[in-house]
Amino acid sequence: MSGRPPAPAPGKSRRLLVVEDEKSLAVTLSDRLLAEGYAVEVRATGEAALEAVAASSFDLVLLDVMLPGMDGFGVCMELRRRGFDLPVLMLTARAEVREKILGLKLGADDYLGKPFDMLELLARVEALLRRRPSAPQSRESFTFGDVTVDLRSAVVTRGGEPVPLSTLEYRLLGCFLQHRGEVLSRERLLDEVWGYDSSVFSRTVDVHVATLRQKIEANPSRPAFVVTVHRLGYRFDG
Ligand code: CA
Repeated sequence: MSGRPPAPAPGKSRRLLVVEDEKSLAVTLSDRLLAEGYAVEVRATGEAALEAVAASSFDLVLLDVMLPGMDGFGVCMELRRRGFDLPVLMLTARAEVREKILGLKLGADDYLGKPFDMLELLARVEALLRRRPSAPQSRESFTFGDVTVDLRSAVVTRGGEPVPLSTLEYRLLGCFLQHRGEVLSRERLLDEVWGYDSSVFSRTVDVHVATLRQKIEANPSRPAFVVTVHRLGYRFDG
């Protein structure tokens, strides 16, 4: 009966901070994350979370919004104000879009409404951690699925065959690659790719996302890489 504990999954020895005042959920979360091979610490208040981040290094914070004392929005804002740039995934029972957007503007990287599916939470944690280790700007190529993007020659291939992209499609793809795992609003994409700041033309983004998907997705109607984040924008999951 004295079985050895399961070895941590390779590449997952990352340190996560769970900030959650609801004990049963904190236990459920930390047990599952530990089982996935992460190192986990739990704090029940915003103030304790800020102390923990200041005292040691974490790779990601899972942050409940409704906390006694300083709430999750305050914690997130304070982390950014102090210059901590680790990814923050906010958890909340309050599902209003306005609050989701507020959370993202305060510097959260992603947002998950309660009750959440544990597998979705794990997928989002992985996506946020995946974009951490290497500085994308310094890379010379990216590969996702059967697509390779050579940044030096600006050539995109799929299954070894060149993919003809328009300049705007290439810049859109480049923007997604730079911000993989992040939710990008149509306004931000317009600003970064087209260089103007207006929501009037946000359909433009949708049109170019659709043509890009035709070229890089195996099944453009069920995209695996450029995914739609309901009411918020798009996220690159490659
Ligand atoms: Ca709570």
